[in-house]
Amino acid sequence: MKEHAIIPIFIPHRGCPHDCVFCNQKAITRTLPGVTPAEAEGIIETWLSTLEGRGISRIEAAFYGGSFTGLPMEEQAGLLAVAHSYLQRQRIQSIRLSTRPDFISEPVLEQLRRYGVGTVELGVQSFDEEVLAASRRGHSARQVEEACGMIQSFGFRLGIQLMIGLPEDSHEKCLESARRAVRLRPDDARLYPTIVLEGTELARLWRQGQYQPLSPQEAIRTTKDMYRILQDAGVNIIRVGLKSSDLVGKDDQILVHPCPPAFRQLVEGEIAREDLEAQLEKLAQAGGTAGRDRPGSSFPSAAVFSCHPDDFSSMVGNGKRNRRYFAEKYPRLSLRFAVDESLPAMTFRVSI
Ligand code: SF4
Repeated sequence: MKEHAIIPIFIPHRGCPHDCVFCNQKAITRTLPGVTPAEAEGIIETWLSTLEGRGISRIEAAFYGGSFTGLPMEEQAGLLAVAHSYLQRQRIQSIRLSTRPDFISEPVLEQLRRYGVGTVELGVQSFDEEVLAASRRGHSARQVEEACGMIQSFGFRLGIQLMIGLPEDSHEKCLESARRAVRLRPDDARLYPTIVLEGTELARLWRQGQYQPLSPQEAIRTTKDMYRILQDAGVNIIRVGLKSSDLVGKDDQILVHPCPPAFRQLVEGEIAREDLEAQLEKLAQAGGTAGRDRPGSSFPSAAVFSCHPDDFSSMVGNGKRNRRYFAEKYPRLSLRFAVDESLPAMTFRVSI
């Protein structure tokens, strides 16, 4: 049974004054009308007709699009009033929205609170000033920190979105962004490797050889290391990578997409493999033999790998790659993959 469902209401931001190098919203929203309150109601009703009665304990209406609070206050109020009416009738349990750090102010937050918004997500993308400037985000890391503090002081849950592989970015800068995000104590995080879309400044830079996109391997490695930093700090990682179907527009507008299919599972599978192997090697060292299993060594001859049932496919690995990895690297080890309901999420255990 699914416990949580999201009703996404995409708000194209027609009047965005910014010019982020990766964004194709301007090209797209020229052809997309805004969402009226009546349309928002229609979207919510359509989703509820498929969600209600399925035992889902929490349904959340989410205004996505990146800049909700950049809309005129009356327009925000009209859309929020619709979601709020569903909240009051308990047909949904919460409201979330995403916006930019520099579109946060006290009057904006007061209005959001009045309409019962629970979570405010910020498109932060990076805490590195060079990356922010090269990406033409139009805000500084300091503005992010101030906005986060204001959101939390109003009692909202805070979400932070980070991008990976922007211009001037690096593995280490991404990890530092994850560390700085942790210091702000967000509740949720999303990690998005950068996609090159047609019609963007990034596409132009890429065509001129001035921007090098992430390879799939780099995207997995950096996302995995950021994931670890956030997860170790107790941040709920609600999204890892975008699917082509998540993007507004057509498939042929995607020029470079560094995330292979099943990206989240690949990232989580890498974490599982690293954690399991580290424990296995530790056990071997404790038994007096570091490294591989060898005939006559004290390396365990059998082991059980366990995790929560929800993480089983990550533990086995996408396409059973972890199963194959361990079978090839430790051919004398008899391995069993098991589930254990008592283990916390993304916790992988080796027992012998
Ligand atoms: S990504 Fe940047 S340019 Fe695009 S809508 Fe958001 S703030 Fe505006």
